[in-house]
Parts: sequence; structure tokens; C-alpha cells
Amino acid sequence: MPKPHDFTALVIGGSAGGLAAAHALRAIKAEVAVYERSAGTMSARGAGIVMQPEVETLLNHLGMRAQSVCVELHERQQLDAHGKSTRYRAPQLMTAWDTLYRALREPLAGVCYRLDSTLRRVHVDGHDVTAEFSDGYTARGNFLVGADGLGSATRKLLASDTGPVYAGYVAWRGLEPESHMPADLLKLLAGRFTFFASSGMQMLCYLVPGANGELEEGARRVNWVWYVNVADSNLPKLLIGRSGKRYAHFLPPGELPTDTVERIAHQANASLPPPLAALVGLSEVFMQPVFDLAPRRMVADHAALIGDAAGTVRPHTASGTSKALGDAAGLATALQGWTPKQPLPTAALDDWEARRLDGLLRLSEIGLELAERSTLGTQAGNRYFEAQ
Ligand SMILES: Cc1cc2nc3c(=O)[nH]c(=O)nc-3n(C[C@H](O)[C@H](O)[C@H](O)COP(=O)(O)OP(=O)(O)OC[C@H]3O[C@@H](n4cnc5c(N)ncnc54)[C@H](O)[C@@H]3O)c2cc1C
Repeated sequence: MPKPHDFTALVIGGSAGGLAAAHALRAIKAEVAVYERSAGTMSARGAGIVMQPEVETLLNHLGMRAQSVCVELHERQQLDAHGKSTRYRAPQLMTAWDTLYRALREPLAGVCYRLDSTLRRVHVDGHDVTAEFSDGYTARGNFLVGADGLGSATRKLLASDTGPVYAGYVAWRGLEPESHMPADLLKLLAGRFTFFASSGMQMLCYLVPGANGELEEGARRVNWVWYVNVADSNLPKLLIGRSGKRYAHFLPPGELPTDTVERIAHQANASLPPPLAALVGLSEVFMQPVFDLAPRRMVADHAALIGDAAGTVRPHTASGTSKALGDAAGLATALQGWTPKQPLPTAALDDWEARRLDGLLRLSEIGLELAERSTLGTQAGNRYFEAQ
């Protein structure tokens, strides 16, 4: 027999934040449906995620241990320009976006998760929220959660939106099977969180689970991120893919034009320690520019924003995913016991918003400080990839 539901929630965006919202809201007896813009597989965007307490808490609630989705590291190493390393002990757990996605998605097998659903309009009428999607599909519920990321349509529809602002540097990224790496390179990187920094750039690297969540040696992947200062005026050109498509916030694997691939290889050889330059040369590079999205309101009439839709933190805090999961858990606590026959628990929602915005601002400041210390997005650091 179906369980009675207190209210119906529409979740917009089916990535980490959206899935976490689905779990948290189901736990307070909401009926949940998730609407995701991607038309097909969600795995292409997979990249490394540093395990954080909020992620571990949700996994534990779902009956999993963090270790079951993570590669364990035992130390950190700083490389100098010649590749000589300085090491110290620092145990840490690393996962990947696609591994975490699977872990959160599989327990929701029976829940409505509609792909190819791009939110176009939101309408609130009394206790009903209607979401309209670009294919003409309409969904009705009592509360809407915007977990639709940096370019959030929900945010634009619910509030005046200033939009994300480019932070002055991009992340070139790679995620390659360890089996594609030469033995000496793998020996240097495995089990370690590796860093390199020089003016206007920083690179970091660690191993994550394989494409199907494999944790055993030989089946994992090497994840790397190379932050590089790039002038604002050069970003639009870098966001045009090989196919001619213009991307807003992310250039996926396979879309870097040949001349950009050649320039990246050249720059890597000119400025990275030899092992890291070799790693870049062996990878299918993709690009994620860094954007700031100032937090404003998270709560609107019968709706709330969570995760990147509500505001971003710089990636150096490695906390974007955990922030999204923490937002979702707190939102469910604020809505616990509410039914559409009652007025919204505005005091609890306002309190949730105030606490989350406060935390977000503190994290944003830490992220900014870490970036500035590495001369990322500042005038003090060199710039690269100038227009040709
Ligand atoms: C270079 C870089 C490195 C990072 N490294 C880390 C890290 O190590 N650890 C970490 O925790 N975080 C990291 N982050 C941050 C992390 O990627 C985000 O904070 C996190 O993914 C936010 O999750 P989310 O669910 O809120 O949004 P997203 O993951 O962006 O998901 C939004 C979802 O909404 C969908 N969507 C968008 N528009 C619509 C629409 N109109 N209708 C329906 N669906 C829609 C999208 O397709 C997507 O699936 C990094 C970020 C950058 C830029």
C-alpha cells in the first residue's frame, strides 16, 4: 500500500543537490519528483570530489560507508618546478561525481526522475506550485526546490538575478583511467594529494574511483585540476566548442578545439613540473571556468533554492557538493510536519535561510582568501592563454 504523504515536492535539477533534496524530503514524508534538464546519461561530467562530513552523513543514512565510494589517500605532496616532492602525512577520502551520483540515485529507483525536462516557468497559486517545462510538460506540487546549479532557471524565475560573475581563472581538468598512465607517473601520484603552484596557476591531482565505482588498483582514475588565470576578454572564445556550440559555464570532454589542445600542451610543458605536464598531455582535457554567484535569497513563496543555485563557493574549499547536501538536509528539517492545509512554516524557513547564507558567506570568504593566496583571479598573478 502506498505511504500517506504530507505534501508533494517538485525538485528542479537532478545532480548532487537535487538527489539529496529528494532523499531529505522523502524522509519527512513528502512525495518527490525530480526534473532534470539533461536528456541522456549524466556521467560525462564526472570529476573528483573531496569527501566532506555532509556527504558522509547522507551516505550513512542510505546505509553506505564513505569508504565504499572513495579512494583513500595517505599523504600530501608539493612538487617544485622540477618535480621534486615534499611530503607530509594527511589521510583523506576522495570520490568522483559519477560515483556519488550513482550512490544517491540508485536508492531512488522508484521515484519519478524525469530527464529532458528544462524548467521554463513557475506559477504559484495558493498552496499549489506549477512547473512548466520546455517540452510542454507540466507538473504540479505544493513546494518547489531549485537545485538547478550555477545557471539556475529557478533563481531567475523566483527572484531578481544578477547572474554568475567570472572570477578571472579557469580550471582545465582531466579524468583518465590509471591504466593509461606510465608506471612511474602512477607511482608518484597514487595514494597522494599532489599540488603545484606558481604565479597565476595552481594544479592539484588525486586518484578517484573508476568509471563504475571501482576502488581496486588498476581500475581507478586519475583526476586533475589545473587552475590558470585567463583574462575576462579571452573567456568567450574559450567557451566555443569544437562543434561550434557556445557553452555558458562548462566545456565538456571532447569539445576542446585542436588549437586549444595544442596551446594547453605547450603551456603545460612550459610551466608545469615534468610529471604533471606529462599527465596533461595524456588526458582528454575539459574546462570549467570559475564563477562567483553572490547569495541573495534562498526562500521564495512555496519554493527554495539550494546548492549552486543559491550561491557558489570557490572550488578551493572543496565544499560545493557538501554545501548542497547540507542545504537540502536543513530545508527538510524546516519543512518537517508541514502540510499544504497549513500556512508555510515561514519562521523555520527564514531561520534555515539565515543560517545557510551565513555559512555560505563564511565559506565564500575562505575560498576567496585561498584563491588570492595562490594569485588566482588577481592582478598579482601572471595570465595565460591570451588571445592570438
Ligand atoms: C573547478 C571546480 C572544481 C570543483 N571541485 C569540487 C570538489 O572537489 N568538491 C566539491 O564538493 N565541489 C566542487 N566543485 C563545486 C561543485 O561542482 C558544485 O558546487 C556542485 O556540483 C553543486 O551541485 P548542485 O546540485 O547544486 O548543482 P549542479 O551539480 O550544477 O547540478 C545542477 C543540475 O540542474 C540541471 N539543470 C540546470 N538547469 C536546469 C533547468 N532549467 N531545468 C532542469 N534542470 C536543470 C543541470 O543539468 C544539473 O544536473 C567544483 C567546482 C568547480 C568549478
